[in-house]
Amino acid sequence: MGSLGGGAQGDSRPHAVCLPYPAQGHITPMLNVAKLLHARGFHVTFVNTEYNHARLVRTRGAAAVAGVPGFRFATIPDGLPPSEDDDVTQDIPSLCKSTTETCLGPFRRLLAELNDDPAHPPVTCVVSDVVMGFSIDAAKELGLPYVQLWTASTISFLGYQHYRLLMSRGLAPLKDAEQLTNGFLDTAVDDVPGLRSMRFRDFPSFIRTTDPDEFMVHYVLKETGRSAGASAVIVNTFGELEGEAVAAMESLGLARKVYTLGPLPLLAREDPPTPRSSISLSLWKEQAECLRWLDGREPGAVVYVNFGSITVMTNEQLVEFAWGLANSGRQFLWIIRRDLVKGDSAVLPPEFLAATADRGLMASWCPQQEVLDHPAVGAFLTHSGWNSTLEAMCGGVPVISWPFFADQQTNCRYQCNEWGVGMEIDANVRRDAVAGLITELMEGEQGKEMRRKAREWRDKAIEAAKPGGASHRNLDELVRDVLLPKN
Ligand code: UDP
Repeated sequence: MGSLGGGAQGDSRPHAVCLPYPAQGHITPMLNVAKLLHARGFHVTFVNTEYNHARLVRTRGAAAVAGVPGFRFATIPDGLPPSEDDDVTQDIPSLCKSTTETCLGPFRRLLAELNDDPAHPPVTCVVSDVVMGFSIDAAKELGLPYVQLWTASTISFLGYQHYRLLMSRGLAPLKDAEQLTNGFLDTAVDDVPGLRSMRFRDFPSFIRTTDPDEFMVHYVLKETGRSAGASAVIVNTFGELEGEAVAAMESLGLARKVYTLGPLPLLAREDPPTPRSSISLSLWKEQAECLRWLDGREPGAVVYVNFGSITVMTNEQLVEFAWGLANSGRQFLWIIRRDLVKGDSAVLPPEFLAATADRGLMASWCPQQEVLDHPAVGAFLTHSGWNSTLEAMCGGVPVISWPFFADQQTNCRYQCNEWGVGMEIDANVRRDAVAGLITELMEGEQGKEMRRKAREWRDKAIEAAKPGGASHRNLDELVRDVLLPKN
């Protein structure tokens, strides 16, 4: 544990300590918030886990986490035992358990250390991920404003809190494992405050269990329940998209005040280039050749395939996706993370590789937002992680969704049913379905309408994030009313 490097002595700036949950989809939005605060005059301490810090040093070099003036990095241990492979996504339930149980002490000590160090201005506020809710105790002990960042969708926040409603209606926990396959998941769940047209299967996936003591169910209920104690909650979303859910979150008393600051990638783009712009906390090394490859393609011609940083699948599923892509006849850019295939490395049939050599590029990680903004990309085959969902909207790209876990089921439902930008692939993925949906999205009438909708959402997102737009104004208000110290 420790803070890495100091600031100027006698520095009277406000000092925000930013604590993300240690997974990619949480680190990136928190980094955007941290940069926006730095741009507004805050001294920032950004807290990584020791595991991720070491990974960043390995993949990006020590300079990546050296910080810039007034923007420093610190580390705390994540509480997990050392793993054999230190370049993979950590097991999420284990990480949730260990951060909850072990991180408060180190975080408390870090705050004390920062306050004792004359090289830093005293800490004036804490911005923590909702699922690092233990930090509320440390912030409250010091009497600091405590703001949480919810990095997933607002609809999924409600979905988690409404697990209680599913329990009270006797729908959860499941009676037996058969309910996973006998059609029960399609049961309509009516009158869910803040949510529309929900079926059991559209709630975040942890609730699909027969175990009344399932750790993740109780974990998410507890963590999302703590938000009511925060001074405010930031959500990476925008009013046009999720206004109804945001209003429900406030009116149900789940947060004192919600500030929508999304889409954060667009809001962060307003920031003029400075040394902080170069800070990137991508845990894998991006392969820039993906962009060069896209440069040579016709507008809208490429299917981009990426399942994010956590999704895993079997090799059989990988092969179904492969043949679906091959049989669609389309050009594709497919990102296959080193640990995408469960317990093994990905093995693709040589016939598939031969058949697609002239129209497919495979890589292991890419600069996703730049890829989605590239004119050559016409469709996104995604797991519907929230960052990917928003990044697709920022790029105006419609999606084919294969949700894996957590909030992705809820996001997928809204992409397909409410926002008009997506089509879903069955969990039991088959090559014909993949090829069929790609063809429909790239050539069909439905696809044309989704592309139109996706562009409409892009325009609304740009509107929200531009100076004077709602997300932009919310950031100013959050800084003024909550984060700046009151005299
Ligand atoms: N990402 C990336 N390059 C890749 C794959 C993913 O930069 O090749 C980024 C992506 O842009 C997004 C994040 O990783 O910001 C993934 O977050 P998301 O919420 O979509 O899914 P998760 O990984 O949490 O399941």
